[in-house]
Amino acid sequence: MASMTPVVRLLRELVALPSVNPAFLPAGDPRTGESRMADFVAATAAMAGLSVEFQQVLPGRSNLIARLSPSGPTRHRILLAPHLDTVGQPHLDPLLRPRVQGGRLTGRGACDTKGCVAAMLEAVRRVARSGRRPASTEIVFLGLIDEENGQSGSRHYAGLASRREYGAQLAVVGEPTRLEVVTAHKGDVWLQVRTRGRAAHGATPHLGRNAVHAMARVVDLLEGEYRAGLSERSHPLLGSPTVNVGSIRGGTQPNIVPDDCVISVDRRTLPGESETAVRREIRDLLKRHKLVATLDTLRTAPCHPLETDPGHPLVLALCRAAGRRRTLGVHYFCDAAPLAEGGIPAVVFGPGDIAQAHTRDEWISLASLERGATILEEFLRNLE
Ligand SMILES: [Zn+2]
Repeated sequence: MASMTPVVRLLRELVALPSVNPAFLPAGDPRTGESRMADFVAATAAMAGLSVEFQQVLPGRSNLIARLSPSGPTRHRILLAPHLDTVGQPHLDPLLRPRVQGGRLTGRGACDTKGCVAAMLEAVRRVARSGRRPASTEIVFLGLIDEENGQSGSRHYAGLASRREYGAQLAVVGEPTRLEVVTAHKGDVWLQVRTRGRAAHGATPHLGRNAVHAMARVVDLLEGEYRAGLSERSHPLLGSPTVNVGSIRGGTQPNIVPDDCVISVDRRTLPGESETAVRREIRDLLKRHKLVATLDTLRTAPCHPLETDPGHPLVLALCRAAGRRRTLGVHYFCDAAPLAEGGIPAVVFGPGDIAQAHTRDEWISLASLERGATILEEFLRNLE
């Protein structure tokens, strides 16, 4: 193990700590919760001279805030914000024993997103140990809970972002982006559409009104005319918005005219498209075709699109450190959008490839991990 570098050792220890989001396991399963991760990171950060604070979000589940103060008074703040939870199931348990082999580290969370935790923590640690801190920028390692389920960690933090001690000029959210700087992703609106009819005996269908037939026309419109219209809109980093009818339920048996039918719809939005606007355009579409249906939201917490200015000076600085000429858009949602909603410009960045996230043999390339730590260190050293 002589070739184990500090960041690889760090990642190995992190992967060995189960931190499965409680949403994926039965209540009380010993592998759940972010607290093992939070405690370990807190101890590591404290040892490097950072001051540590736990921010309770849910009972027994806290965001971890570790601050490296600047050499002078704090005028700016940067967040390095990976999440502390992972997906996982009991039958994937072998993945909790990390394996380093052939230039890879394999294990649950290796790429999503403990690789980012390790690279970010290592970068802050190097700056702390070097004794050359930024003059006026506080560097904060923000370990977030619950990214894999409800993003309650980032939503909670974002709700406090107007306070002086939490606001920041930029959040670098840790996700495996192959060390690309990501400034945009789509939002996601989930809707339920319902048609109502009038029940009648199957032998006398003319006495009823068939809710399933009405819905068949709604589905055809959404998947046809509506989708065609969406494909004419386009965003330089994200392409076109999309629509998908994901489920349908209606009627009970062959000899009854169904009086009720429900579908669920997933509509991926571009920056600038709100849920209100989406509902309005679907309502208008149905009206034009003289169809009557009700629309309801299927989510309590909306997933907004992310669009951060690629020309933001700190985004440019991160691109320079990463050797990237341009920023990218991605198709997945993460903690960046809730933080941006709270007023903190956010980008997504980290070692590893999202293609290996949530897989049965999740791994990360050690070269990517090392490079990630180096890029982040350089970015932090150039802060004023
Ligand atoms: Zn993730």
